[in-house]
Amino acid sequence: MDINHAIQFVVDEVESPALEHSLLEKEFKNKVTRSKTVVHRMKKIGDLARYLKRFETIPPVGDPKRRLYDRFKSLGLKTYEDLYPEFIKIFAQGIDDVTVLDDFIIGKDYSSWDISIFSQTYDTQSGIYLIGDEPNYQAIFIKATFTDGKYPNEWIQKYDVLKYYMYSLKNVFKSDYKYNAAIINSPKYGVPIYVFEKQAEKCSLKGIYKYERDEADPVNGSKWFVLKKLNSLDINKAVTLREYEQEVNKQVSVSRTRNKTERRERLKTAPKAPGTVSVTSTQFVRNGDVIVEVLERAKGICEDCRRPAPFLRKDLTPYLEVHHIKPLSEGGEDTVENAKALCPNCHRAAHHAADIVTVTAAIIRKDNTVLIAQRGGTGDIAGKWEFPGGKVEEGESLEQCLRREIKEELGVNIKVQRYFGESIFQSTARTYRIMAFMAKLISGDLNPSEHSGLKWVTVSELDQYQFLPADEIFVDQLKRLAKKKKSRISISST
Ligand SMILES: [Zn+2]
Ligand SMILES: [Zn+2]
Repeated sequence: MDINHAIQFVVDEVESPALEHSLLEKEFKNKVTRSKTVVHRMKKIGDLARYLKRFETIPPVGDPKRRLYDRFKSLGLKTYEDLYPEFIKIFAQGIDDVTVLDDFIIGKDYSSWDISIFSQTYDTQSGIYLIGDEPNYQAIFIKATFTDGKYPNEWIQKYDVLKYYMYSLKNVFKSDYKYNAAIINSPKYGVPIYVFEKQAEKCSLKGIYKYERDEADPVNGSKWFVLKKLNSLDINKAVTLREYEQEVNKQVSVSRTRNKTERRERLKTAPKAPGTVSVTSTQFVRNGDVIVEVLERAKGICEDCRRPAPFLRKDLTPYLEVHHIKPLSEGGEDTVENAKALCPNCHRAAHHAADIVTVTAAIIRKDNTVLIAQRGGTGDIAGKWEFPGGKVEEGESLEQCLRREIKEELGVNIKVQRYFGESIFQSTARTYRIMAFMAKLISGDLNPSEHSGLKWVTVSELDQYQFLPADEIFVDQLKRLAKKKKSRISISST
């Protein structure tokens, strides 16, 4: 017995006969139609049973609901009140299958109906839903819209701090209206506030929030709540993989902005055994044939960087991952044409890399000096000094790139020794990552084709030259290194 049977049963027994009855008045038919809409939105038998339970007892004479009941009876139609005991008997096995609070997962999308059915209000228009009984509610659900209405809600800090307007009646905002009082009293009773961001038909659960304070506009009298998001990883609730990743990234950026001493102090007292969080994810069912075909096509070579798979799997096949060029989540197809086999580096880069230009630079040393080159041409960088190098081409390793560039620009062959450091530089148009290597000349005579000058200088002389901003960090690094070396020598000589 599934939910569709249960819905069909209600429709066949009560709703269709009523809607098809020629003598039933439109006023009553509208009520039936509304109810039918609710019934059709049910996803669990227990939820439907709870809805019908409201009709468990026959409304007393004088109750407005009694009119519909009496009219149904006079036409010989079955009512929900008649249906309820039968429903309970037939669908007994499904009665306990109701939506529970734990079915709401942080990061997931729901419909207004999911919320209204769970809250048992069967009303999709509200902004605030009180779950359970006052004053110690099980939860408060808030459905926040950000575009329409006279008082649009707003994120004070995106997804972290919400400005949410109080429930108002005819533009009067009172803290003691039931909905508002529930939110204000929520810290006292420990009631969690679930905030859904409503966009079109989707209500996305952004997290659990706590009431911080309320504020008012003295001019128009409007009032709003300031709600603050709780760390999704600290509250023992299920989260989506995306929410999980976002929270971890948030913690990392917070940690990055704090000072090092404080961070190290915290690390000393931090628990060594990590807590756990339940992460739910919905995966596309991928076609094994597509994976095998793509891997065979690649023959163990990454289809981006053209380098061999960096290691073998335990079954001795090359480790490449099959990646969709247009993601499945964006409507991409699970086909051989829309997939390529990538090494783990290229695969991670395909998903997470910033759009930058990678450039190499050589710090070529001879005796106590380094080679610096002056930019030729015109424009504002002409005349400035730099460490020579250039853009990495597709399929080229950094070392290959550097050897090629130096040969092209200076006419010499170099040996690339070790990685020195990097500099991230943002010009107005692009972001560059300059990766510098220590190197030495192995053959050829210096003959610059693009630079207007070359010089061998000692580290202490570097300050006399004006470098490109992107290279300044390397100059500083060289100076620091020289200082360290000097102090090491003086220590060892004493
Ligand atoms: Zn690769
Ligand atoms: Zn991928």
